[in-house]
Amino acid sequence: MTRVARRFDAINLAQGFPDFAAPQLLKDAACTAIQADDNQYAITWGTPALRTALARKYREWYGIPVDRDREVTVTCGATEAMAAVMLATIDPGDEVVVLEPFYENYGPDAVLCQAGPVFVPLSLPEFRLDPDRLRRAISPRTRAVVINTPNNPSGRVFDDEEMEAVADLCVENDLLAITDEIYEHIVYEGTHVPMATLPGMRERTIIISGLSKTFSVTGWRVGTIIAPAQLTDAIRKVHDFLTVGAPAPLQAACAVGIDALGRDYYEGIARDYLRRRDVLYAGLRESGFACRPPEGAYYIMADFSELSALDDTAFSTWLARECGVAPVPGSSFYNRPEDGCRLVRFAFCKRVETLERAVARLRRFFA
Ligand code: PLP
Repeated sequence: MTRVARRFDAINLAQGFPDFAAPQLLKDAACTAIQADDNQYAITWGTPALRTALARKYREWYGIPVDRDREVTVTCGATEAMAAVMLATIDPGDEVVVLEPFYENYGPDAVLCQAGPVFVPLSLPEFRLDPDRLRRAISPRTRAVVINTPNNPSGRVFDDEEMEAVADLCVENDLLAITDEIYEHIVYEGTHVPMATLPGMRERTIIISGLSKTFSVTGWRVGTIIAPAQLTDAIRKVHDFLTVGAPAPLQAACAVGIDALGRDYYEGIARDYLRRRDVLYAGLRESGFACRPPEGAYYIMADFSELSALDDTAFSTWLARECGVAPVPGSSFYNRPEDGCRLVRFAFCKRVETLERAVARLRRFFA
């Protein structure tokens, strides 16, 4: 859809990358590292400075004690992190439970392990996790549950009841929880509670996150994994063979960012995103889309049934071409394309001016 947006000169609310600047001190730190010739391979599993900063952050923010030498791996984005984690922990023939709608990588990563993804739909219209449905999806071959909160694309921040239901099933069935927490600091309602803080979960949870979203640097490719030492051992081996390591000067800059930016910064990004959310949400509702305000992350899944009889892919291209606003077809987030055929996803990780222009176009177009 990014290519389609470019072709039609449409405002790209498809792919989730910010159109605004990263924090100045982070950019300065990256330049300083490059000027200091920090040009060679970093330690495969991450620079000591970044692993130290991460261990401190997890302890201070979430009360999770982390051994920087045995439990942290720095990867080329959360994308590589998820692939490395699955390749390290999932065997051929295993099953991996994935909640649906899902971020696109989980299914293919499971397939790369010759495992079977098993999809559990969240219940509409709130995208709620149904514990009974989850329980029914678990078989003797299930090895792991992937859980992404705050969630892309649904905007859900799973509540205590939903998180506890997943944790209970993991403990009961001796499963790993592979969590994707890349939007941990982009929360509007409720709070982000890492699965690893629930009783019995630290030893069976692999926490994936990264700096792409928190520092608005999706092109830097710095992701992170926190996992028990024995799992980290295997994950580091896979990571070594996949990419050797994440970019050294950018790891240096991320360490400076984590050390220097305090709660003000994190609260600031959540506040800025809330403003952007409200602009897009109001515009979509006024234009005739059916949607709910997301509780976290920076996407809105919207039902366009009242506006068009096209399917999601045709509607997305049509909207980009005729209205000048590009979303992502909803079927991208479902195993069975028909389940997402009335939905599109809009990203609001854009400047308020960009969103206001997009919303003005939508309002005019559907008036
Ligand atoms: N996980 C989720 C849920 C995402 O939405 C994204 C990017 O959109 C990623 C992972 C990828 O993160 P990274 O840029 O760190 O690879």
